[in-house]
Amino acid sequence: DLSQRANIKGKGEVAELAQTFDMMCGRIQNMDQQRSEFVSDASHELKTPLASMKILVESMLYQDNVPEEVYKEFLGDINGEIDRMNSLITDLLLLSKMDSDIVTINLERVRISSIIRKCITALEPIAKERNIRIKTDMSDNFELECDPLKLRQAINNLIENAIKYTGDGGHVTVTTKHHAGEGAIRVEDDGIGMSEEHLGHIFERFYRVDKARSRETGGTGLGLHIVRRIALMHGGRVDVESEEGKGSVFTLVLPLVQDTEDIE
Ligand code: ADP
Repeated sequence: DLSQRANIKGKGEVAELAQTFDMMCGRIQNMDQQRSEFVSDASHELKTPLASMKILVESMLYQDNVPEEVYKEFLGDINGEIDRMNSLITDLLLLSKMDSDIVTINLERVRISSIIRKCITALEPIAKERNIRIKTDMSDNFELECDPLKLRQAINNLIENAIKYTGDGGHVTVTTKHHAGEGAIRVEDDGIGMSEEHLGHIFERFYRVDKARSRETGGTGLGLHIVRRIALMHGGRVDVESEEGKGSVFTLVLPLVQDTEDIE
């Protein structure tokens, strides 16, 4: 029973051992609780698209003479829900892999511009569809020791969000800068932004400012949580500034390779 405590007072080696034991029990208990919360949150998230699909299928099954267009429309909606479940499962698997001890981080020395370019090439088509321009300023290019695939995932999530939460014809700007042993990748948009009360929560898993909007754009509520995990894994962090109706700036800050020169 993890809630039991050794309850040994006083000083000395035995008391110290008891304290360590109690602390470890507390930690395991905490981890256990987090894990079960995660399973329950994830199940809930998976049930939502399933429930929508069930309603759509049943309404087709139990109605006579449904016109073909309506069938097609419902099938299109079901297809959308399947896509949603698929991205959710992909993100969940990614997180569970990061949670497990076998997570390997494959460090390589890479130029930041090459990773960003790959992300932009992949995301440009969805930006173009909505007439959103992605600009870059990578004149301050730097080298990083990182896991290129993971870093690409993190930057991808930030740029993808910048596009998702920006109106048609908007602008997304990606800038790189390095200073004092740190490299920063800044993703700025002139989109919907968000008010201050949300800023402390958006990196929590499944937190969304506007559930309906996140759903519409195929969001899983895990994107930023994954970004933060990847940043921490590299000894870095991710910061956000945002103003409702004006736009947002997300900055991924990572430690640089030791011998990178600093320009002051
Ligand atoms: P989602 O899959 O819902 O996009 P994320 O974890 O990527 O989940 O983001 C969490 C929430 O933070 C989003 O639902 C959205 O409300 C908010 N958000 C993230 N990026 C932006 C942005 N660039 N502009 C405005 N809101 C954002």
